[in-house]
Amino acid sequence: MNAQDYMKREDQFGAHNYHPLPVVLEKGEGVFVWDVEGKRYFDFLSAYSAVNQGHCHPKIVKALTEQAQKLTLTSRAFYNNVLGEFEEYITKYFGYDKVLPMNTGAEADETALKLCRKWAYLKKGVPANEAKIIVCEGNFHGRTITIVSMSTDPDARKDFGPFTPGFVTIPYNDIPALEKALQDPNVAGFLVEPIQGEAGVFVPDEGYLKKAYDLCKSKNVLFIADEVQTGVARTGKMLASDWEGIRPDMIILGKAISGGVFPVSAVLADDEIMLCIKPGEHGSTYGGNPLACKVAIAALEVIKDEKLVDHAEKLGKIFREELKAIDSERIEIVRGKGLLNAVVIKPMHGKTAWDVCLALRDNGLLAKPTHDHIIRFAPPLVITEAQVHEAVAIIKKTILEFDK
Ligand code: PLP
Repeated sequence: MNAQDYMKREDQFGAHNYHPLPVVLEKGEGVFVWDVEGKRYFDFLSAYSAVNQGHCHPKIVKALTEQAQKLTLTSRAFYNNVLGEFEEYITKYFGYDKVLPMNTGAEADETALKLCRKWAYLKKGVPANEAKIIVCEGNFHGRTITIVSMSTDPDARKDFGPFTPGFVTIPYNDIPALEKALQDPNVAGFLVEPIQGEAGVFVPDEGYLKKAYDLCKSKNVLFIADEVQTGVARTGKMLASDWEGIRPDMIILGKAISGGVFPVSAVLADDEIMLCIKPGEHGSTYGGNPLACKVAIAALEVIKDEKLVDHAEKLGKIFREELKAIDSERIEIVRGKGLLNAVVIKPMHGKTAWDVCLALRDNGLLAKPTHDHIIRFAPPLVITEAQVHEAVAIIKKTILEFDK
């Protein structure tokens, strides 16, 4: 089969809920992926920041294969000998009392919403069914009905109603709007991405998160950080919340806590919040399975062993500086933190970010546009400085071709 055959088969038998760039991948190692014809590419998407540790990291794959031969799934109907090890490891790693493991980012977001509502009724004293959660315009927290109920993206919502009530939407990066919304005594939580990834890597003003956190504290409202995309070293800190020295009441993690090897997500919180949920009130058959636990421990160890936090910070600076130095009318703005970056492309002569991504592919680098005019650049954090220079040379060459 050739690339066309693979694409045709997906198109014929799979739902059309994605619009992939036409490239068919079959192998990955570190920062590189290879297509079915053997062509090598820099992966500058990293599966939406899940593959921070690089493709098929040997330590994580070893953890997976070793555990896969012993015990994969028992469900939470029984104890197993690995779940506690993971729970102790991840709670100490991020400094919270407890963890609730799930599988996908969306499930972890749903978990945090449920915890927040329970806490509102059991601890804050919000009247039954009156709890509200503040969310931000442009957010992305996943694809479930409740999560799209919080979305302001028309594509995410159209024809999916009726929606879950209980959300108040305010503009992102807008402290006065938050202050106003917090006047409602039934507000239980503020759910926010420290950087809005899917919206196009929107970095809020310095001080925004800290001020938002302080306001929430003053109103006894939970500050909930969705770090599914920004967490685990991606932005040059372990958590993007660390940039402002805040400790959210709840942290939502997914993607890179398993290095792209297995779906693992988690919510971290202290006892006051986490113990509001009792047996039978929440869970998932696969959540906290032994395979996921071993993979996640290994993936989090790699982040520390390979000093990927400092590495992402250092190489992110170099990457942005080099991108900013490209002299092209096409580039409107370069923004980001650590190795979560985006370039806003000016649409010219009918060519959009999609066309630029096709040309990048032809030149050996994979990236994906968001919203027609933004290209996110988020390579695996194991990228070397020499590879950053090489990748920037590809981006430069490609973008300058469009200026002609
Ligand atoms: N939250 C954020 C901030 C995300 O970026 C994403 C995915 O891109 C999600 C949640 C959803 O994660 P998943 O696709 O694993 O459900």
